[in-house]
Amino acid sequence: MITPLLSFFRFYCVLEIKNRKEKNSEMKGFEGGAPMKKDPLKVLMCASEMLPFAKTGGLADVMGSLPKALRKLGCEVKVFMPLYREVKSQWFEQYRNLEMIADKIFIPVGIHHFTVYLWRTVVDPDIEVYFLEKDEFFDRSYLYGNPDPQRGDYEDNAERFILFCRAVYALCVHTDWFPHIFHIHDWQASLVAPYLVHHWRSDPRFVSTACILTIHNLAFQGIFPGTFFSLTHLPPQVFTMEGMEYWGQCNFLKSGIVYSDFVTTVSPRYAEQIQTAEHGYGLDGVLRNRRDRLVGILNGIDADLWNPATDPFIAAHYSIDNLEGKMVCKKDLLQTLGLPLELMDAPLCATIGRLTRQKGYDLIYEIAPLLFKHNGALVILGKGERELMELFIRLKQDYPTRCAAVFDFDEPLSHKIEAGADIFLMPSRFEPCGLNQMYSLRYGTVPVVHATGGLDDTVEDVLLHPEGGTGFKFYAYGVESFWEVLKEALKLYENKTLWRKIQISGMKKDYSWDRSAKAYLEVYEAVRRGP
Ligand code: ADP
Repeated sequence: MITPLLSFFRFYCVLEIKNRKEKNSEMKGFEGGAPMKKDPLKVLMCASEMLPFAKTGGLADVMGSLPKALRKLGCEVKVFMPLYREVKSQWFEQYRNLEMIADKIFIPVGIHHFTVYLWRTVVDPDIEVYFLEKDEFFDRSYLYGNPDPQRGDYEDNAERFILFCRAVYALCVHTDWFPHIFHIHDWQASLVAPYLVHHWRSDPRFVSTACILTIHNLAFQGIFPGTFFSLTHLPPQVFTMEGMEYWGQCNFLKSGIVYSDFVTTVSPRYAEQIQTAEHGYGLDGVLRNRRDRLVGILNGIDADLWNPATDPFIAAHYSIDNLEGKMVCKKDLLQTLGLPLELMDAPLCATIGRLTRQKGYDLIYEIAPLLFKHNGALVILGKGERELMELFIRLKQDYPTRCAAVFDFDEPLSHKIEAGADIFLMPSRFEPCGLNQMYSLRYGTVPVVHATGGLDDTVEDVLLHPEGGTGFKFYAYGVESFWEVLKEALKLYENKTLWRKIQISGMKKDYSWDRSAKAYLEVYEAVRRGP
């Protein structure tokens, strides 16, 4: 529930952006009070993943869409990310359209001077994407480490992403392009903020650059031993409680929160939640201190990529006017996964995501036998924790005609599942924004979600709002309330007319990037320091 105090903060933030915008637009030139001519807003996005190059989660989707949407609004947007093995193999070896723009740049990290290379390509059709090549750090099987927590993150992640952040300066200098805004994402890019404040702003070319941090998931903060601080070459005052120090350790995300000009996160509800002890992962106090510079902007979805009327991965196309193709997609999904066609009349539930407890897979496992008893079936696509994988392997063995599970990262299959399933399950413990529930709404696949973060913001509860409801929500986190609500969904599934109404209400929702990009633009304008 939104407390009146938190609603006030949200209102205050919106008001503050508006005021600053008005102040900026009042900036006068020297002659005759004519408004000062402003350059198009130049934004450099710094992120550790981006579609179509490399993806482990929602950040990559955002990076694949937001620059395009901002471009449409007149911004000049460029992106900077590491040159991972998969980028090299696909874009260099197959497409051969990477161009080296700088070689043998020396960047210090601790006592080492690393030699790096910068590459460039263009996507969609005029977003320039720059890559940092340092094979020793980025030519690896995974982006951050083995997704199975027992194997863990790479031990040199601190060095890897210190290097990445320091290379931002070299990129700007080598391309002679100095943005108005560094838009940095998550802990991997967070050190750009203290480098800007403590090193780069003494260079006149960066005096009017502002920095915005977007937190995609507060659970990942980039925490390293305090002794690693010397690797950063930042001044000692940064390693204090007011800076990146966190119980004697280095907390990269905290430095982004503290030193950025504005902080955003990926849904309004999550922006409130992360200021509470329950969801703040130890940083709620730091975030509360920045509450007048913190807003939640809902992620959008790429409405071209995720469109059941044109999706190249699905067996038949369909739209809000004619949903017949969805049944063809269901049949195709059952056949693809080796499930019996008798399930055509059964409610087919699905879930896609990182196999972690955050996503509530343990709850899905617990309710599965009940679901099967009520004539339901279950499809899982996920990669991650070994323990969870083993549970679902067993479930599949016990219910081979009711359950299919694929433990892989499979983009085409994820589209087939969105199109072919009837119900999408997202019982996440917490969910900063979540994308799959929005894909599901667009594909007429009714979501059943825990009312948290972006799930709460994007799904309207059918049981509370029978008229415009788009999905089902459970409020108290636990197996019982999840099952109670799923049972209601299964009941309603039997009423084809009502079910169709819910599907249509969801398909009508517009969660494309256009609206969210405008909100980012407002934040950029609010912090813009130069013409
Ligand atoms: P998070 O960023 O927490 O992982 P999101 O819902 O924001 O979760 O985004 C996850 C994105 O990754 C979605 O586009 C989802 O479809 C995709 N995804 C996750 N796991 C898989 C998988 N195993 N195969 C294909 N796509 C996946």
